[in-house]
Amino acid sequence: MATSRTGTATYLRNSKRVKTQARRSGLTHCPGVDGRPCGAELDYDTPLLPNSAETDHIIPHGQGGTDDADNLRVICRKCNGQRNRTKVPVPVAAADDFPVDPNWLALVCGGGEGAPIPGRSSPRQA
Ligand SMILES: [Zn+2]
Repeated sequence: MATSRTGTATYLRNSKRVKTQARRSGLTHCPGVDGRPCGAELDYDTPLLPNSAETDHIIPHGQGGTDDADNLRVICRKCNGQRNRTKVPVPVAAADDFPVDPNWLALVCGGGEGAPIPGRSSPRQA
């Protein structure tokens, strides 16, 4: 059985089912997520548009959510993307952590021979 994050067999089957049900029940506009109303007109037939209908995990996988139909709902691709971006915290290094010394690579690599140092010609260049 496939265990890819983007879609187990169960997810793919239930995703299709949930979308079909939403369409039949007359869900024509994105209800929005996380308290943010959306209202985009859902396109069930064309994938990868900002308003394409996509299934979203109500409880994310990372929090123990399943691929069962009752944990899936239909929202637009834009909302789904925003939600996926907000539900996974991405650690961002403080600006002070970025190397500012032009010789940072040499410093990090212990000043190794052959390390390309910006502003100097590489010793490897023929
Ligand atoms: Zn939306």
